[in-house]
Amino acid sequence: MLIVMSPQATDAEVQAVIDRIESVGGTAHPSRGAEVTLIGAIGDTDTEVRVSQLELDGQPGVEKVVPILKPYKLASKEQHREASIFDIGGAKIGGDHFALIAGPCTVESREQLLTTAEIVKDAGANMLRGGAYKPRTSPYSFQGLGVEGLKLLAEAKAVTGLPIVTELMDARDLEPVLEVADVIQVGARNMQNYGLLTELGRAGRPVLLKRGLSSTLEELVMAAEYILKEGNEAVMLCERGIRTFESAYRFTLDLMAVPVLKQMTHLPIVVDPSHAAGRRDLVESLSLAAAAAGADGIIVEVHPQPEEAICDGPQALRGSEFAEYARKVEQVAQIAGKLPFLEAAQTA
Ligand code: PEP
Ligand code: MN
Repeated sequence: MLIVMSPQATDAEVQAVIDRIESVGGTAHPSRGAEVTLIGAIGDTDTEVRVSQLELDGQPGVEKVVPILKPYKLASKEQHREASIFDIGGAKIGGDHFALIAGPCTVESREQLLTTAEIVKDAGANMLRGGAYKPRTSPYSFQGLGVEGLKLLAEAKAVTGLPIVTELMDARDLEPVLEVADVIQVGARNMQNYGLLTELGRAGRPVLLKRGLSSTLEELVMAAEYILKEGNEAVMLCERGIRTFESAYRFTLDLMAVPVLKQMTHLPIVVDPSHAAGRRDLVESLSLAAAAAGADGIIVEVHPQPEEAICDGPQALRGSEFAEYARKVEQVAQIAGKLPFLEAAQTA
């Protein structure tokens, strides 16, 4: 339920509404805009019924009470009309701000990571990605370097100053991941791991939540709601390709998700062309299309020598191609209304 206060409502009237919501066990999330204050009343179904029985529309300062029929609330545009913008270690994302997140699929070695980090930094990318814990289809495949990989990410961050995006698969690894991650990635296979999402909501660190391989957009937004509900407002949603009947490529990159998610939610939308395509030759065109569709960021895999990569080599952009690729993405993103985002690495 959403309570729209009248533009003339006083602080005392806003507080009186909050008090009444809380008196029946609801949680009130006020959101003060330049002109109008909105109060989201959140609770389980029973609480929602009790809040509706309060008949708040008769209360001083209340303009109207809007039942929120959508199952997601905190993520919705009704709750937060302006696009959310997050500052991640100096890299902004959301609104007019686009972030290019690049790096290897997985941290393989000190040399591989630092070389990639320098390539990405020199091209002006805004964040470095790299997995230390990898969700592999086969339990016999390389599973990531774990804590050793996290230490290398910390070193790459110290050398380049780039904020780090890295995946957490198991809440038991949260503590070491929190030591280095500026953004914690939740992989597609964990999108509906609600225990993990709740832990991340409590941890308070920005989260990049990837869409499940067979999840609807509503399921993705509901998963984000688990994180937001715990008080963590910094959630970015990521389209990374879904399973369809098409077999000519690995996944179908659902670019319609970008404008549609923007109608559903205020959260920044990131696109991952690498995992959708599974092959390098498609990555640039998908990236340009994502930027044109209004994405707030791209997360892309880059490797200095993709032929030698332990994981996802065929889809990794070559280090030598990356700077040119980044420039093209920036051009298209600007046409779609974003500010220039490539950092001038020479000044670093
Ligand atoms: C990844 O980003 O490295 C990854 C495994 O992605 P996804 O969870 O989308 O498959
Ligand atoms: Mn990968």
